[in-house]
Amino acid sequence: MITEMKILRMALKVATTPIYNFSPGPAMLPREVMQKVREEFLDWHGLGMSIAEMSHRSPAFTGIAEQSVRDLSELLGIPENYRILFLQGGATHVMSMAPLNLCRETDCADYVITGNWSKRAAGEAGRLTNVNIAASSADVNHTTIPDREDWRCSEKPAYLYFCDNETIAGVEFPSAPVLPDSCGDTVLVSDMTSNFLSRPVQVDRYGLIFAGAQKNFAPAGLTIALVREDLLGRARPDVPFLYDFRLLAEHGSMFNTPPVFNWYVAGLTFAWIRQQGGVERMHENALRRSGKLYDFIDANDFYSNPVEKPYRSRMNVPFVLADADLDRTFLDAAADNGLVELKGHRSVGGMRASMYNGMPEAGVDTLIEFMEHFASRYA
Ligand SMILES: *Cc1c(COP(=O)(O)O)cnc(C)c1O
Repeated sequence: MITEMKILRMALKVATTPIYNFSPGPAMLPREVMQKVREEFLDWHGLGMSIAEMSHRSPAFTGIAEQSVRDLSELLGIPENYRILFLQGGATHVMSMAPLNLCRETDCADYVITGNWSKRAAGEAGRLTNVNIAASSADVNHTTIPDREDWRCSEKPAYLYFCDNETIAGVEFPSAPVLPDSCGDTVLVSDMTSNFLSRPVQVDRYGLIFAGAQKNFAPAGLTIALVREDLLGRARPDVPFLYDFRLLAEHGSMFNTPPVFNWYVAGLTFAWIRQQGGVERMHENALRRSGKLYDFIDANDFYSNPVEKPYRSRMNVPFVLADADLDRTFLDAAADNGLVELKGHRSVGGMRASMYNGMPEAGVDTLIEFMEHFASRYA
């Protein structure tokens, strides 16, 4: 409990102030996972070497990889007919992989635009295939998700793409979208980078789910893709080999060297989530953290969040101050209190608190306490 918040910049810093990192990514990882990494870093299980130095073909790493796949499958209840790929690179790679693997140049892929990430994905797909924008919330600055009845699919699209949680706008699909009749039973493709493993997912509703690691489960440089088996082998003949889902699946994600260290950390995070009580528990935590912050913002005139309530993200909470001239003061004072990386994205302005699986509840409690003090001083 903080009795007196230091609102003004102070030269003195208490060494023991915990740092809560609200970065949208790379983001906080669970403390216990980081501690385990430190313990094992120089000498993994008595082998006298680090995971960072170990062959991806070694029995030790093969064991880590297999266990991580079992844990992930268990966490999300991934059906047998899905391949779990551990890819080099970012979620952005998969924005190219989706059209390259799931359609020919003449096919059409449908995109629902609810923010910057789905917009980027549609732009990339537009270079590789025909794209139909089935719906967009650009006209309202991505503060909502367009009504399902207003989505307009093309005829027999190769897939329909959406971003489950738009990290910048702070807009999240409450659940897998039930498609309007116009879309038929097309393959769903979803970018779950910023809310992966934060709630249960009905995997069998999707053809492809992907997530970059650096928000919810490991350092940047690893991306996980869950691909339904029957979609392997549809790739364009000129697909570069490291973009070919089937090739990567056939080689157990080891056609070339996978990001072994990140994969190892991912495995530790999966084990940690299981220990915590699974993705149901992550969901409860996320609802509690974000719920507290939204309730506070809604009750305080000094702060506001523009997103329609049913679509507010549990992971990323953007908010603005009543007086934007105070933004710098807010950020500096927050940092002095151990609350860092709160600056909003330039396209939205103001602030954004990103709270992924690794963010303890004490972080949001401290943030709210700080915001209360700041408003009472400056409002
Ligand atoms: C961060 C983010 C990305 C980009 O991930 P990279 O690993 O940088 O390619 C894509 N989609 C969403 C939803 C994100 O939050």
